[in-house]
Amino acid sequence: MNIRAFKLSLPIVAAMITTVAIAADPDARARRVGERCWQDVRVLADDVTEGRRAGSAGHRRAAQFVADEFRKAGLKPGGDKGYLQTVQLEARLIDEEKSSLALVLNGERRPLQFGEDGGFSLRGNFVREVDAPLVFVGHGLKLPQYGIDDLAGLDLKGKIVVAFGSAPDSVPGAAGAHFGSAAERWKVYREAGAVGTLMMSNPHTVDIPWERAVRQRLEPFMVLRGVDDQFVGQMVQVMFNPAHFAKLLEGTPHKAEDLLTLLKEGKPLPHFDLAARLHAVQDVQVTAAVSENVVGVLPGSDPVLRDELVVLSAHIDHLGVRGGEEADRIFNGALDNAAGVAVLMQIARDLGKGKAPRRSIVFAAVTAEEMGLLGSRAYVAQAKAAGQRIVANLNSDMFLPIYPLKHLVVFGLEESDLADDARAVAAKLGVEVQADPQPQRNRFIRSDQYSFVRAGVPSLATKIGVVPGSPEAEIERKWQAQRYHGVSDDLSQPVDIGALGGYQELVKRLAVRIANRAEKPRWFDTSVFSKL
Ligand SMILES: [Zn+2]
Repeated sequence: MNIRAFKLSLPIVAAMITTVAIAADPDARARRVGERCWQDVRVLADDVTEGRRAGSAGHRRAAQFVADEFRKAGLKPGGDKGYLQTVQLEARLIDEEKSSLALVLNGERRPLQFGEDGGFSLRGNFVREVDAPLVFVGHGLKLPQYGIDDLAGLDLKGKIVVAFGSAPDSVPGAAGAHFGSAAERWKVYREAGAVGTLMMSNPHTVDIPWERAVRQRLEPFMVLRGVDDQFVGQMVQVMFNPAHFAKLLEGTPHKAEDLLTLLKEGKPLPHFDLAARLHAVQDVQVTAAVSENVVGVLPGSDPVLRDELVVLSAHIDHLGVRGGEEADRIFNGALDNAAGVAVLMQIARDLGKGKAPRRSIVFAAVTAEEMGLLGSRAYVAQAKAAGQRIVANLNSDMFLPIYPLKHLVVFGLEESDLADDARAVAAKLGVEVQADPQPQRNRFIRSDQYSFVRAGVPSLATKIGVVPGSPEAEIERKWQAQRYHGVSDDLSQPVDIGALGGYQELVKRLAVRIANRAEKPRWFDTSVFSKL
């Protein structure tokens, strides 16, 4: 090598060293991948997709983008129209001008204000006019295995059940979440002869302030068409403001503050007939709607195991655009859940290149999560009808890359042996696994993994965790209070790019590990879900 050549090559060598250093430096890799993911978030959560409301043109645009990226990544189409899977929906819109809600006490009618006091959830077989007695059932759970029967001694026939959507502390988190879900509750209430429900959230653990939550009632409520209706026989469902609980108790010897204290302490609540009846008139416009899941498949390399599917899921849809005075009315849903979909796409790109794992991996970017996990339920129903065997689900929803990835919350950690996989993968990356720190918020049943769980599939949902009381915990608290389901969950918020990329790597490794397992995943015998 002569001097001249040597001199010339110096910057090249330096450049090569830098490249090698980047490749070996996991933080640099995480940032690079994070940047790539964020690029996709910018497309998905752009104002042009108008908040990706299920059934909207904006959602369709986002879904088409995901489909194109799945194709480029080399996935096989898994929908009925290429990568797109049609989901048949029914949209129900209340006309509050023509509707009413009132308590009737000793023959005296006391009108309730929509928004201020409550609003309708248009599930089940809503009927135009309902007039029925109310019965308060406390937490409203019937779980003999935990010594709980809130319905004991009560007659529910022809009545509207009034309950808090909560469970006493004596019930383990997952069981409380599952049996406390609206669908499981309705099974029990219906069997006992009830005709409707009036539900209040636990004001001590609620995520979304009442004012924000109750606004949802003015948007079209969506249900699946053609898939078993979990709310059959439910003629009316009211969501009621827990701050106005006292109105319901009038004419009884009970005081709202006493019962709310018991609720706060996680203790059992009394149950009794209320003195008031509920009179409801629901004027509802019903229209058919269609939205799309996006499904791509990476076929497994093992001739036998490839028939077993490991499904990675994330919802595309968000809340759309809302009327109102505010200048910004677009709910961009950058972290809820464009980021989850971006991670799915980037995993597809990475895995599409190399040798496939033994089992097949399905990438399911689903619609209508915000409407009640409808897209994932439709996906599971269609897979079942086609005789497919889903053996595991990993869901990413609002995994919050807003602080460094040092801890990983794993929802469902106590339920199946997928926990071992999560622990092994996290340990390798120097990430500490956490069980759900707030089981009373029911997150295990509040996103798409629950559609799989209900179908008997061992599932996990993951998000980046924080140490309680740390500055990161405060960042998360603020995010939940200010940005969750708000217009400010948009592209201008601060994001930890390294955490975004690190999370992608973690979920990718977890998916590959599960797809390569010798035995298919199974529920622990102690899990309530092993008996579904
Ligand atoms: Zn959401």
